[in-house]
Amino acid sequence: MTESAPETGPEELQCSAKGCRADAVWALRWNNPKIHTPDRRKIWLACDEHRQSLSAFLDRRDFLRDVVPVADRGGA
Ligand SMILES: [Zn+2]
Repeated sequence: MTESAPETGPEELQCSAKGCRADAVWALRWNNPKIHTPDRRKIWLACDEHRQSLSAFLDRRDFLRDVVPVADRGGA
């Protein structure tokens, strides 16, 4: 019984990888301690194909906090 989440904006859930127009399946939640407060979460969306490379990019910089299915992003 999941309707589209009310906090979802009008934007489409598209992969954040450059040039990729695939539907996002994953939400990569990250935080840059240098510019964000610790509880702040930025979100990158990723399709199955780019989940690996995008999360590796964030992980290398120690920014990656967690990866969740898009349907669960921002939720509990
Ligand atoms: Zn992609």
